[in-house]
Amino acid sequence: MARLVIPQRRRATGQPGRSPAARSRVAAIVAALHEARPEARVELEHESPFQLLIATILSAQCTDARVNKVTPELFRAYPDPAAFARAPHPDLERAIRSTGFFRSKARSIVACCRALVERHGGQVPRTMEELTRLPGVGRKTANVVLGAGYGIASGIVVDTHMARVATRLGLTRQTDPVKIERDLLAAVPPTEWIFFSIAMILHGRTICQARLPRCGACPLRPHCPSRHLEAALLAAKSVRAKRRGKEGARVPRTKAAGGRTGRNRRGRLHPAPGRT
Ligand code: SF4
Repeated sequence: MARLVIPQRRRATGQPGRSPAARSRVAAIVAALHEARPEARVELEHESPFQLLIATILSAQCTDARVNKVTPELFRAYPDPAAFARAPHPDLERAIRSTGFFRSKARSIVACCRALVERHGGQVPRTMEELTRLPGVGRKTANVVLGAGYGIASGIVVDTHMARVATRLGLTRQTDPVKIERDLLAAVPPTEWIFFSIAMILHGRTICQARLPRCGACPLRPHCPSRHLEAALLAAKSVRAKRRGKEGARVPRTKAAGGRTGRNRRGRLHPAPGRT
């Protein structure tokens, strides 16, 4: 007897951005980014690929504005890889302390600069393979240095902003940065990789922010499947506020209740001090 085969619903496995329709949507997104940010450039101030490399290492878990406050003095004290390579750790840690994670950053910078001196004659290499072999340098940092430092389109920078905006725009369903980059590389033309990296990250910082995207002011809105996200989040916020208001109304009033009560920081009722 023939076996009964129940057809299974197939999961969507195709990469977003590969179909002709998706490609034209990506082209529209890139065009809108060009129009909105024609002069997009990295916000980390630098005068050489080497300075950009150090600034990018410092920018982990830190804002570019904070890094820009630290680097002018830092590069005066340590002008080249050799100077960083022989920097005493406590001195370097003190100089970069305000960027956070200063101990591990200092270790990475010294190790990276020693490798630059020993393996590359004090020069920052120009290939992804060589860069990612340096201590403290991952694919994201290497893409920043190659793209913004040397103008070499080797890939697309995937940081937290890129990952969020690309997901909201429906350009990827992945969560792993390497897989996100693979999706984006397949969708975005190589000639746009450098600009796209910079413009999307700026877009994530200023418009498509994590907590509340500004969809109403977004130039990518016509091409974005998440364009109602801002309204949906605001609606959810107002429902939560109303609920909190109703719960609050049940709290006995101070004098009318003949006593003093309040809510602690978790919203639980608690007696006023001295009335336990
Ligand atoms: S429309 Fe909203 S969710 Fe989409 S990219 Fe713009 S800000 Fe982000």
